[in-house]
Amino acid sequence: MGKIIIANWKMNPKSIKEARGILKETLKEIKQTKGIEVVICLPFPFLSIVNGLKSKKITFGAQNIFPEPKGAFTGEVSLPMIQSLGAKYVILGHSERRKLGETNKIINKKVLATLKAKLTPILCIGESKRDEDGFYLAFLKHQLIECLTHVPRTQIKNIIIAYEPLWAIGGKARHIATEDEFTEIQIFIKKVISDLYDIKIASSIRVAYGGSVHPLNADNFILGGADGLLIGRDSLKPKKFGKIIRSIE
Ligand code: PEP
Repeated sequence: MGKIIIANWKMNPKSIKEARGILKETLKEIKQTKGIEVVICLPFPFLSIVNGLKSKKITFGAQNIFPEPKGAFTGEVSLPMIQSLGAKYVILGHSERRKLGETNKIINKKVLATLKAKLTPILCIGESKRDEDGFYLAFLKHQLIECLTHVPRTQIKNIIIAYEPLWAIGGKARHIATEDEFTEIQIFIKKVISDLYDIKIASSIRVAYGGSVHPLNADNFILGGADGLLIGRDSLKPKKFGKIIRSIE
């Protein structure tokens, strides 16, 4: 399977006009690229601009969903709604949503609902800091076990796990994560999945890295074994985003 590059636009840009502009520029940047799956996860209202867009270069996703298909849930957006707009992926458990109160239990419900709807969950996990005693590993294991509860063995390979250490997101970091730091966690994630399921499933699950990826460090993570990258800020800058994709092509 080729590498996957996931753009997380977060709550940006301010208008549909700007969103159209960024998308148009992004498409121009990646026109020549081959063998890489590019997924753009947009704010809900902008999914309608990509509905019907016939680009083989880009697939679209959302950044959250409500786990019920319809009903009296004021202000929420369902999986069938985003599916009807062509979305194929959903970012779940992003640290910015966890900060707003989303628990592993809630994320687990969303993961199960997303799989049931046949969309691909991009499940984010990540510790806020690393301690010398390695408690962050127990923390990540706990996140994985709780978020994957009741996911059947036939479905687990349909999930992408995105390792996003909170200390490396948004460029505020004391230091940017290294490929070795990613590789350690990728091995650890596969060990947890192997214990929960089996080694064959663990070796087939895709693990992506996210946290201050930019054109000069993207290929390090891919060389470090990442199956993909999750990109925040630089996904809103088509030139930089294009450079990242070309750097790993
Ligand atoms: C993110 O928040 O998912 C992210 C990866 O952001 P950034 O690339 O800006 O660190």
